Amino acid sequence: ASKTPTVIIIGAGMSGISAAKTLHDAGIRDILILEATNRIGGRVMKTQFSGYAVEMGANWLFGGGPVHNPVLEMAEKVKLKTSLNDYDNLTSNTYKQDGGLYPKTLVEAVDKVAVARDDFCAKFSTLLTKKVKNDVDISILAGQRLFKQEPKTPLEMVVDYYHNDYEDGEPPKVTSLKHTYPRNEFVDHGEDPYFVADPRGFEIVVQYLAKQFLSSLKGDPRLKLNKVVREIIYSKNGVAVKTEDGSIYKAKYVIVSVSVGVLQSDLIDFRPKLPIWKRLAISDFSMTIYTKIFLKFPYKFWPTGPGTEFFIYTHVRRGYYPLWQHLENEYPGSNILFVTVTAEESRRVEQLSDQEVEAEVMAVLKTLFGNKIPKPEDILVPRWGSNRFYKGSYSNWPDKYSQHRHDQLGDPVGPVYFTGEHNSNRYIGYVTGAYFTGIDTADDLLGCIKNQTCRGYNSQQM
Ligand code: FAD
Repeated sequence: ASKTPTVIIIGAGMSGISAAKTLHDAGIRDILILEATNRIGGRVMKTQFSGYAVEMGANWLFGGGPVHNPVLEMAEKVKLKTSLNDYDNLTSNTYKQDGGLYPKTLVEAVDKVAVARDDFCAKFSTLLTKKVKNDVDISILAGQRLFKQEPKTPLEMVVDYYHNDYEDGEPPKVTSLKHTYPRNEFVDHGEDPYFVADPRGFEIVVQYLAKQFLSSLKGDPRLKLNKVVREIIYSKNGVAVKTEDGSIYKAKYVIVSVSVGVLQSDLIDFRPKLPIWKRLAISDFSMTIYTKIFLKFPYKFWPTGPGTEFFIYTHVRRGYYPLWQHLENEYPGSNILFVTVTAEESRRVEQLSDQEVEAEVMAVLKTLFGNKIPKPEDILVPRWGSNRFYKGSYSNWPDKYSQHRHDQLGDPVGPVYFTGEHNSNRYIGYVTGAYFTGIDTADDLLGCIKNQTCRGYNSQQM
């Protein structure tokens, strides 16, 4: 039998792999990664759809900013195929609920207000952080009200959706202003949206990172795939981790990198129960759903050529199949379209059958392009919210969720450490956030292993 590892890492997504690599680089090499699925990558996940690799999870990387983006650098090292998306033409491609385009000048005017509103929100949020103590926070919607130009009409709503929900996965009403604006991912890493369309998938970036310390992604004994962790028993003496297949793994410490949605579910049983402050920090945070519905058609009936990549559908029901994108630039001749829904619409769509989703989507497309359009040959409806290993797509910082509580979300409990995208302060929700929190958590644990500064044993923690 192999020696008991010092650290078990649960999950082989970006944060788990980044934590493992950090430990390895610091000389802690007796680690064991337990991953529930049969692959590395987690929410960075491609799938084959009608012969093309499409990203069901993370799709964009950001560049062009003043701060170095290590994920973009890795993407460049593996020559990840990306294309720069151009959203500038959205104002010429915004359709009315009953079909027909809005005049470009009208959409431009609405968008101008939205841009000014975003600016105001960013400045006001900075002011709140600097000047107002006691963790005062408001929702993005409250910030918009202070600006005195809250979106009201369906057109204003869909433009607002593009500015907020499309990024945060949740509407401004429930999202923290202070922890969302200014949008640090863009401020730091830039606003150039690199859209990944590579047959190897975005996940080769996570694999690339893993290969820096694992001898192979299939054979290295430090990585065990198809190991669903169901129980973590912990005490001052260490941890025992039980998996669904009945195996038990012991270690001194464990790093849990599963999503906050999974932590909120009953998949993993902690023994003893996590302390109440920890359970509150977990249950009060928010996990949203972001769904890209892919459709494959026998031929194109939507506009193609420069400036047509995206189009918007406006509806009185906010978020009803609002944002559409074709893949002609990335995969010419693929005849693939996809539409994005989020939050409540995602939750609703997940309850429908693929046929029911197809019927709704086709009704929208017929309104825009006429009744003669062909039936799709294939449809892909990812269901992130129902998947027990994700329970959503990424986290969202709810308004009134304090910084203190967020610190607790990441705090260790005895020998149990926590990492993952949701623990990021600056890049919550993003692959970069997952990457950096993996490093931070590993550093925290290294302080414990090497210098005996074990935060998990502060009196309030256990
Ligand atoms: P995960 O990737 O979830 O890793 C956790 C791992 O734990 C997973 O591999 C999971 O299988 C495993 N696991 C779960 N439960 C168990 C268990 N019981 N036992 C063992 N293993 C378990 N980010 C961007 O930067 N740009 C984007 O464009 C973008 N778009 C997105 C769109 C969608 C639809 C989704 C879903 C995500 C998107 N993201 C995007 C977010 C990004 O994918 C995540 O922030 C990031 O990948 C999270 O990494 P993680 O390591 O924190 O978590």
